[in-house]
Amino acid sequence: MQKQTHFFQALQNSYGGTLAEHPWTAAQLTASSVKLISRKNLAENMLTKILQYSSVSEDLTKYAGLQPLYEGINMLNPHYCRRDEVLRMLENCSGLNVCQQEQLTDSVMLFLQIVKKTKLNPLQLHEPEALDLWWQIFPESKPWDALKWLWEEGMDVPHSQSGFRAWRRFSQGPLTGMEDVVKLHPKNWLTICAEQKTFTADIEADRTAAAFAGAGRKAGLAGICGVLPDCENCALSEDCLWSAAGGKTEQIEIEEKILKNHISVEDIPELLAWLLGSNLDERKALMNVVNQDAPLKDWSQVRLRELEQQQPSDSKLAIRLEALRQLCKNYGVEELKPQDQFNSSREIFNHFQQRLEALKQEQFIIVLLDNKHRYLAEENVTKGILNKSLVHPREVFASAIEHRAAALICVHNHPSGDPAPSPEDLRITERLVEVGKLVGIPVLDHVIIGREGYVSFVDKGIL
Ligand code: SF4
Repeated sequence: MQKQTHFFQALQNSYGGTLAEHPWTAAQLTASSVKLISRKNLAENMLTKILQYSSVSEDLTKYAGLQPLYEGINMLNPHYCRRDEVLRMLENCSGLNVCQQEQLTDSVMLFLQIVKKTKLNPLQLHEPEALDLWWQIFPESKPWDALKWLWEEGMDVPHSQSGFRAWRRFSQGPLTGMEDVVKLHPKNWLTICAEQKTFTADIEADRTAAAFAGAGRKAGLAGICGVLPDCENCALSEDCLWSAAGGKTEQIEIEEKILKNHISVEDIPELLAWLLGSNLDERKALMNVVNQDAPLKDWSQVRLRELEQQQPSDSKLAIRLEALRQLCKNYGVEELKPQDQFNSSREIFNHFQQRLEALKQEQFIIVLLDNKHRYLAEENVTKGILNKSLVHPREVFASAIEHRAAALICVHNHPSGDPAPSPEDLRITERLVEVGKLVGIPVLDHVIIGREGYVSFVDKGIL
C-alpha cells in the first residue's frame, strides 16, 4: 500500500482553523511557552515521577526515608560526581532495597549527565541527545511518559501518542495491533513533527494532531480520530489509508462492540484476547483454547495448567485468565448479612445463585427472618433428592424456633438447571405453609434456583 505523506497538510486544510480556535488547543499552545527551569524542582519532580516506577513504598517520601536522596541530588556536582558517591547517598535512605538503590543510582547519574550537557537550557533539555538520556531514566516501556513529563515541566516537546496514532492511521492504513515496538517509539513522532512544513513549529503540529485525536475530550473538544475513529464524519477520509482499507482491524471491531454493548457469547474468545493477550502469541493461545465447546466457566484446573504449560515460563497468561474467571464468578454476588432488609425474591436468588446453581445434588435451605423480615440466619435442612420425608416440618421449624425467627423462606436448587417446581416441590411447600400457620412462623416464599434463573412461588402466584 502506497504511504500517504500529507497528514498535516490535510489536517490543517480541513480542521486547522477550528482546532486552533478551540480554547483547549489555545491553552495548550500558550502553556508551552518556554519557562525557566530550576534544577532543584526538576530533580525533585523527576525523582517523584520515577519512584512510582521502581515499586518504592508510598510511605517513603522526601520527608520520610528519602531525605538523603532529595537533598543530596541537588548538591552533587555534575562535572565530578562518581557513581559510588551517589550509591552511598542512596544507602543512607531507609526502606530501599539493593535493586532500587542500584536503579536510582543509575537514574541520578543520568540526570547529572543531562544537567552537565544542557546546563538546563530549556531548549537543549529536549534535544535528541538529552532525550536519549531521559529515555534511559524512564522505564523502557514508558518512553511516552518521559515526553509527557517533560511537557508538564514546561518544555516544548511533542508528546501526543494519540496524535501519532492518527498520523499512522492516515498515512499507513490499518494497524495490526502487534506493530514493531521500534516503529511505535515516540522518537519517530518527534522526527515526523519536526519535518512537517505545515505548522510553524513541531509543537503546534503535535498539539493540533492531539486535538484531532481526542486528547482534549475532557475539555469538550470532540476528537474525530480517537480510540474509535469516526471515519464517516471525518473530512480526511478521502485521502486516509485507514479509511480506504475499510478502517477496521479485529482490535477496533471488538472495541466498538464493547463500547456499544454488543458483546455476545461468540465474541468471548476475541474479548479475552483483547483483555488478556499482551502479545501475539498469548492472543493466539487464547483464541485457540477458548471456544464454544470449551466455555470458560466450565474450565477445570487441568485445562488451565495445560494452557500454562504451552506458554513460556515467565508468562502470566494462565493466572490472568484464572483471575478473570474468579472475578466473573464472584461479580454481582450479593451476600445478605444479619439485619439486611429482605425486599424481593431476586435478592434471595442473588444471594444463593453462586452457591447452588452448579450443585449436583438438591439442597434445601431455610432463610430465617425477624419480625421486620430482615435476614437473621440460614440453615441447611437437607441434601439429596427432595421428598416429603426428607424435608420434614419438624426439622424446618425446630431451627426457626431456636433462632426465634418470625418468618422463613424456603430455598432449594434444581441440579437439572430448570427451576420449574415439581409436584413434590408443591406438596412439600403446601405442608410447610400449613405447619407455619399453626406454629405462627409463616412461610413467606419458596425460591427454586436453576442454572440461569429462578422461580418464586409468590411471584408465580402459587403461594
Ligand atoms: S478517516 Fe478515520 S482513520 Fe482516517 S484520519 Fe479520519 S478519523 Fe482517522
